[in-house]
Amino acid sequence: MNLILLGGPGAGKGTQAKKLIDKFKIPQISTGDILRAAVKEGTEMGKKAQECMNAGTLVPDEVVIGIIKDRLAQPDCKKGFILDGFPRTVPQAEALDKVLKGLGTKIDHVVSIDVDEEALVTRLTGRRTCKDGACGQMFHVKFSPAKKEGVCDKCGGELYQRDDDNETTVRSRLATYNQATAPLIGYYSKQGLVRPIKGVGGIDDIFNQIVGIVSGAGCSCGCKH
Ligand code: AMP
Repeated sequence: MNLILLGGPGAGKGTQAKKLIDKFKIPQISTGDILRAAVKEGTEMGKKAQECMNAGTLVPDEVVIGIIKDRLAQPDCKKGFILDGFPRTVPQAEALDKVLKGLGTKIDHVVSIDVDEEALVTRLTGRRTCKDGACGQMFHVKFSPAKKEGVCDKCGGELYQRDDDNETTVRSRLATYNQATAPLIGYYSKQGLVRPIKGVGGIDDIFNQIVGIVSGAGCSCGCKH
């Protein structure tokens, strides 16, 4: 199963992807995570990406397309993958189609998670993430606080606030999403792949909707997807 999770920053793509990994045993590919790792390691790519990431704008298409091309060629993607945060522009989606064609595969579903913008701002500015790259568990200071402040419930790692989760950058990321990424709904609708869901309510309820969609049980709008 090759799945794209589409949705604004904070819509819950990463949270859902982590649950989907456990259920379907396929990897999550998050260009944001890969770029953050490059920034941390101080690689050339990381240095170039950091400025865009801190400003809430997009890293150039050719950089992320290169990342995805390499990642999708890895053996663990053969059984399927969950794309989280890629593609984010129409040229990225076109490049992805080409790469997948070359690998003899294609996208099966595009789950579009819809959340009201002000709710996204509240979610992101209160978000805390586990520093341990292998864990990456997310918390929210108000909605899902860690049992002990600043400490991950799952692995005991330190929690931090992402540099780009401050309100100014969040607003810029939302504007970027509306301008560059939202057109992907039209792009994938033309291919008959979009499965819209409401990204509000319990994490497990949203997860069950996604599982229903990818298992062919139909989508939340009552259509025959
Ligand atoms: P994310 O973790 O998905 O919210 O991504 C964090 C930041 O990384 C974004 O605000 C962008 O600056 C950059 N980024 C991640 N994925 C992409 C992408 N597919 N295209 C361009 N920039 C990206």
